[in-house]
Amino acid sequence: MSFELFFTHIVAHELTHGLGPHQIKINGRDTNPRLELKELYSAVEEAKADVTGLFALQYLITQADKTSGGPAPLAHGADAERQLYTTYLASSFRTLRFGLQDAHARGMAVQFNYFLDKGGFVANADGTFSVDLSKIKDAVAGLDRVLLTLEATGDYAGTKKLMTEMMVLRPKYRKHWSG
Ligand SMILES: [Zn+2]
Repeated sequence: MSFELFFTHIVAHELTHGLGPHQIKINGRDTNPRLELKELYSAVEEAKADVTGLFALQYLITQADKTSGGPAPLAHGADAERQLYTTYLASSFRTLRFGLQDAHARGMAVQFNYFLDKGGFVANADGTFSVDLSKIKDAVAGLDRVLLTLEATGDYAGTKKLMTEMMVLRPKYRKHWSG
């Protein structure tokens, strides 16, 4: 776990709220994701900020790894990558405990289940969770593509489908975060 990467990810989360689709066009009509996704928007936007933030930090880490000599913009290398995702996994429990009436927790439930399904997060037999570094980067990129596309296309039906399937605390893991 790393305080620096926890903090930097929160900064990246806030920055990426300002990026991504804001003005969109549907059948020639000017609109925006908030109008189109209605009551589902907040949870999607919070998940988008989390996942795009992770994607951005991974990009910076990868670029820093390629830079030989000179000051790096942030911690990088294999240890930093492991710390980034492990810290994120731990912080997901903090966010889920806000409860599913909160947009951050709703967005986190989507991420948690998606990453479990893609093998990036692993539920171990002893009740602990871990990160599979060989799968988490593709899982982050995959979910980011899904979320950004839902916003860019103002796809309410697609968002509803994703939320119905993923915005749940699955009973088999519930005991881990009911604490
Ligand atoms: Zn946010």
